[in-house]
Amino acid sequence: MSRFLNKVAVVTGAGSGIGKTIVKAYAEQGAKGIVSDINDKHGHTVVKAIQDLGGTAYYIKANTADPEQVEALIAKTVEHYGRLDIMCNNAGIGGTPAPAAETSIEDWKKIIDINFNGVFYGCKYATQQMLKNGGGAIVNIASIHSITAVAGHVGYAASKHGVLGLTRNFGVEYASQNIRVNAVGPGYIDTPLLDELPAEQKQGLVSLHPIGRLGNAEEVAKLVLFLSSDEATFINGSYYNIDGGYTAI
Ligand code: NAD
Repeated sequence: MSRFLNKVAVVTGAGSGIGKTIVKAYAEQGAKGIVSDINDKHGHTVVKAIQDLGGTAYYIKANTADPEQVEALIAKTVEHYGRLDIMCNNAGIGGTPAPAAETSIEDWKKIIDINFNGVFYGCKYATQQMLKNGGGAIVNIASIHSITAVAGHVGYAASKHGVLGLTRNFGVEYASQNIRVNAVGPGYIDTPLLDELPAEQKQGLVSLHPIGRLGNAEEVAKLVLFLSSDEATFINGSYYNIDGGYTAI
């Protein structure tokens, strides 16, 4: 399929889980994929997997918590592939569990830096480049905890709520210049992120989804690709749950 033929798509946190699946899907559908992560080994493995299937991809290391590295990620993307059409700000962490008032300042700053500030840096530098090449689409990976609390993870909920706010603002401010910015909010998705949880807690998460199971990364990727594509040209500044009914209760 060539839905994204000649498009250049950057995905952060693309060495694992949801990001890995998204960048592979872009490449399968004709895009030149930039696999970005802090884990070089995982990043190179994803690039090789894409190339083995006949796709085009390139690895660029970037810690999304560092604005200079995100600026350099976009500059290197343009150096390598000449333009930027799609930016998926996906990199994120779960953070250390603690009651809200017991959360350490260090843990708070870390999760806000990666999950919230990192998405802002991605939107900022991607938008600057997209303005130069006539437009583009940005999809931010938010969470059901962009609109609900999650006990024991105040930093996660706050960071993901923030992603929603900046998504709407970027969407509104650049709509007239052909840049669309949207967010998706997955329920619990079976990725290595959840491996940090004790087995019984992971099992307990299933019961929160009326559909009776966790989601998978392919399901999230389909929504992200739709929002990135020309099928979604009137969708902007929006947020879409993909959660098996979690937030409908
Ligand atoms: P994952 O742990 O499988 O993958 C995350 C990737 O991000 C890893 O490759 C990691 O190396 C990378 N990463 C971490 N910190 C980074 C940084 N500072 N800079 C660049 N890369 C960094 O996790 P996942 O489940 O695929 O999660 C991806 C995104 O989806 C996150 O934003 C997460 O909050 C969100 N999300 C996940 C779930 C879920 O249940 N898995 C649910 C809702 C939202």
